[in-house]
Amino acid sequence: MDTKYIFITGGVTSSLGKGIISASLGKLLQARGYKITIQKFDPYINIDPGTLNPYEHGECYVTADGMETDLDLGHYERFTGIETTRDNSVTTGRIYLSVIEKERHGDYLGKTIQVVPHITDEIKHRIRLNASKEHFDFVITEIGGTIGDIESQPFLEAIRQLRWELGPQNSINVHLTLVPYLAAAGELKTKPTQTSVKQLQGLGIQPEVLVLRTEHPLSDELRSKVAHFCNVDTAAVIQSQDLSSIYEVPVNMQNQGFDEVILTKMGITPGERPALGPWREYLERRKNATKTITIGLVGKYDLQDAYKSILESLAHAGVYNDRKVKALFVNSEHITRKNIADTLKGMAGIVICPGFGQRGIEGKIIAAEYAREHNLPAFGICLGMQMMVIEFARHVLGLDGADSIEMNPTTPHNVIDIMEEQKNITNLGGTMRLGAYDCQIKPDTRTYNAYGKKELIKERHRHRYEFNNKYLADFETAGMKCVGTNPGSGLVEIVEITSHPWYIGTQFHPEYSSTVLHPHPLFMDFIKTCAELQK
Ligand code: GLN
Repeated sequence: MDTKYIFITGGVTSSLGKGIISASLGKLLQARGYKITIQKFDPYINIDPGTLNPYEHGECYVTADGMETDLDLGHYERFTGIETTRDNSVTTGRIYLSVIEKERHGDYLGKTIQVVPHITDEIKHRIRLNASKEHFDFVITEIGGTIGDIESQPFLEAIRQLRWELGPQNSINVHLTLVPYLAAAGELKTKPTQTSVKQLQGLGIQPEVLVLRTEHPLSDELRSKVAHFCNVDTAAVIQSQDLSSIYEVPVNMQNQGFDEVILTKMGITPGERPALGPWREYLERRKNATKTITIGLVGKYDLQDAYKSILESLAHAGVYNDRKVKALFVNSEHITRKNIADTLKGMAGIVICPGFGQRGIEGKIIAAEYAREHNLPAFGICLGMQMMVIEFARHVLGLDGADSIEMNPTTPHNVIDIMEEQKNITNLGGTMRLGAYDCQIKPDTRTYNAYGKKELIKERHRHRYEFNNKYLADFETAGMKCVGTNPGSGLVEIVEITSHPWYIGTQFHPEYSSTVLHPHPLFMDFIKTCAELQK
């Protein structure tokens, strides 16, 4: 079968959940036995979101091959279990960079470099890149931004051209819009959808399928009205209502025949509807998990998207432990030694979150100390692990002023130091230790058991600073053990206080690899322990 291309665009507003719809469609096609990949094209000029702060863009997700990407790639992986790569996340910045590099190299000698055709050709090349390396039955391409934005125009022009080149059997456009509800009028309004589709048509793209985001169910009459105005079949007008979990979306889409409409339009007879067995079991188990467990997220951002993958990993582990995880943001800037006991009251455990820079770190250190002294399960991730190390150095080893070089370059005890290979790096974009690295685990440790007695694992990283091995022997003698090391470099990847019920810090980000059907073993063990101790 030729590779078929599905383009997902959005209109009216941003935040309609294009990423979830793309991931759900991927899931539904996979369930039919197709090999798929999902990629995101973002119209901003940054090369990647690595240098954006989470208030602007939410969490920065990291692929196994070390690309810093949009958080939607996390959804793609969590829904479908595929491993995305640097070719699955492309920005305008990357497109321009490669065109400009080619221009300097002399690849276009004699020519004027223009948006059309040079930028659009580069976009088309990138859209087809994944399928040129490996066969995929379907490539789902999500275009970031909203129709009408100046910066998404070259992407839409590239899609228009590609659709023409590929033909209707091999390409299709799914457009997401919003149907707002006007409470005063008591009415759902379709005009924004009509306008948005007209805009798309004006660019030469006729969407075949519409997904309407709505807070209230849409009547058949309304759907057929939209169909009429927009040149689509009524069956191809799908509604996307707010659901209790994003993981309900694939089932909801399947119930409306979303994937069947798409397959039929691309000349494929859909055949039987897949049962989605394990997926439904997850949802069922989730529904039955009514016992709540509260986990504190100690960090400086109190916004959902900043710790997206951690929240999802906790939720996955919760379901498989028959618990509903209630994650509460604990702003580390407000933590003091005086209020810590009150702040963490009722919490079954804490996650000390990743991060960069000084703000809020003393609060993380206080939380680490409290958890260590009160046998409260604590999971330190990246910066969180580094704070566990600093706390231990200061209060157990008696190393006053112990710190990370990141926070205090003149600390007398640099227990967290800059990595050797980072010392001469001056550019901040894309230069951290990124992506998956091997980690050797020490047998007979909590971590080892959590990983199902595996001795070699691979996890994804995003950091510049690292445990200083000069202090290793002192830490181990005092009870904080290094239980995971990178075999090549000897870098400390995991620390654990073995005498504590659950006190583990990882230099890597386990949250990037937890999926619905394969929850992460460390999160599983963490939640399991939290639940047991709470009894
Ligand atoms: N700022 C720390 C470092 O660069 C931790 C990074 C993180 O938490 N992702 O090492």
